Amino acid sequence: MDCHDILIIGGGLAGLSAALKISSDLKVAVISKVHPLRSHSVAAQGGINAALGNNPDGKDDSWEKHTCDTIKGSDFLADQDAVEMMCKTAIPVLYELDGLGAPFSRFPDGSIAQRPFGGAGFPRTCYAADRTGMILLHTLFEQCIKKGIAFYNEWLVTNLIIHEGQCVGVVVYDIASGKTHSIKAKAVIFTTGGYGRVYLRSTNAFINLGSGIGMAYRAGIPLKDMEFVQFHPTSLFGKNILITEGARGEGGYLLNNKGRRFMEDYAPSSMELAPRDIIARAIQTEINKGNGIEDKYVHLDLRHLGRKKIEKRLPGIQEICIYFAGFDPVEKVIPIQPAQHYSMGGIDVDEFCASLVKGFFAAGECACVSVHGANRLGGNSLLDAVVFGKISGESASNFVEGGGGKIAGDNILFAEAKRWEQKINDLMRKDSGENVYDLLYQLKDIMSIKAGIFRIKADLTDALSQIALLREKFKKAFISGNCFRYCQEFVTISEFDSMLDIAEVIVFGALKREETRGSHYRLDFQKRDDTSWLKHTLVNWSEKGPKVSFKDVKIGKYKPVERKY
Ligand SMILES: Cc1cc2nc3c(=O)[nH]c(=O)nc-3n(C[C@H](O)[C@H](O)[C@H](O)COP(=O)(O)OP(=O)(O)OC[C@H]3O[C@@H](n4cnc5c(N)ncnc54)[C@H](O)[C@@H]3O)c2cc1C
Repeated sequence: MDCHDILIIGGGLAGLSAALKISSDLKVAVISKVHPLRSHSVAAQGGINAALGNNPDGKDDSWEKHTCDTIKGSDFLADQDAVEMMCKTAIPVLYELDGLGAPFSRFPDGSIAQRPFGGAGFPRTCYAADRTGMILLHTLFEQCIKKGIAFYNEWLVTNLIIHEGQCVGVVVYDIASGKTHSIKAKAVIFTTGGYGRVYLRSTNAFINLGSGIGMAYRAGIPLKDMEFVQFHPTSLFGKNILITEGARGEGGYLLNNKGRRFMEDYAPSSMELAPRDIIARAIQTEINKGNGIEDKYVHLDLRHLGRKKIEKRLPGIQEICIYFAGFDPVEKVIPIQPAQHYSMGGIDVDEFCASLVKGFFAAGECACVSVHGANRLGGNSLLDAVVFGKISGESASNFVEGGGGKIAGDNILFAEAKRWEQKINDLMRKDSGENVYDLLYQLKDIMSIKAGIFRIKADLTDALSQIALLREKFKKAFISGNCFRYCQEFVTISEFDSMLDIAEVIVFGALKREETRGSHYRLDFQKRDDTSWLKHTLVNWSEKGPKVSFKDVKIGKYKPVERKY
């Protein structure tokens, strides 16, 4: 049986950052269900934050101001020590990426260019036109190849194996051959990304189903703050493709059906550069009030920026509009609506990416440290993925080199793999039943209608019963073909269990949290309530359903005050 010192599950920015930090003496491999360069990180557009102070309007910026903006943006739910660590490290990390060859856009003096982003007091978002994720992922992938990191691509991890309180390996399904393997490891790092596709309208890649988060939950690790789901204000209407916040950072306006910049009613001083939770709610409110176009969307206007600026700074957005909507944003306004975008919550880990299970670490979007609290600022997620990706690599290396890892007996891993194979055999025996894609659609529909931007007790309660019904139906799911090689239907079935769990935990957390904070807006509790709710929600799996507990938020020198923009 194959045995590694450290296994990294996920080939996005967090996974590759982790791989580069692991000591060269250790045997390490990255497992990814798609080729690493197809991970969702590649789609990131607008940029990555670091207080470099290169922009003429950002000379007074500092990592302390970045920290303060992030904590305010989080609606004071982020752990302040972790935010400090991230914002301070951001500066050397950016120069490290630059040194590795990441081709950032530049100012005329040759320094890394920086643009304004939502919720930030200074223009501190570094970018490579509107393809920042792509250049960062390619840069790190090259470095991994140079270091000789082993990659297992198109391998889907299906189970996390915990034995006597220690993580000892994983079970994988090789998508190309249809075969199951188990792999031993002294430490495992999950960098499996977000769960955006639990929602109908999402800017996330189709692969973002969240099974890493689901596996950790089933293995007994709590999920933290899952009720906080980010809805990005601007996705292309009807297509859900992200239109980066960088478009507003460069000066784009939001207009309602009267051609009015409605943000002056919601965030008069920050306007289009208020944080995402506030703008997404403002857009939805305009649409609900009848100020939308066809009652469905509003407009993003870039025309006044001019062709030259759009082609230089937002070429990807121009291409998206031309290829997917049939017009050039130099000439026409862009129809936009909010869509699910990011998972603030995730696997509960500390600032060293360690979980309560020995040898199990998590980083990037699947994890919750927490540095984003109730609402993430744009440009802070690529930063989170790189900074905590690196930290997870260091922590796992120290753990293994310090003798913390254990090698489990073959029998333990075989037993888990057998259980998995049994599931496959059961599925193969059925020749009729529920189609998993129908069930997936129903789940997304429930989540979008009942647990979206605005939430209320009756809807959330109803969503929980509907998810329970879907779980019953899922027991009858079957595979329509009989070939397990490159079987996407089987991949979806394998991840659907996790999607049901994740949906249930989001709704359960949203129902419990009787207040409004950041992205979580309760129509029946419209105020933030620091007396009762300045705490993290933890949810554990149990046979009888989710079990909730709470954990203190680490407050430092930034005392909670009302958020005004
Ligand atoms: C359209 C879009 C634009 C964005 N723009 C920005 C931006 O400009 N700035 C910013 O800061 N943030 C941005 N974000 C957010 C940011 O890109 C992500 O949060 C971040 O890249 C996540 O990185 P990650 O490494 O955690 O996960 P991902 O890049 O999603 O990688 C997850 C990896 O896990 C693997 N995986 C998952 N499940 C399994 C499994 N069961 N078995 C094996 N492998 C598995 C996948 O194959 C993949 O390799 C954007 C997000 C989107 C959707």
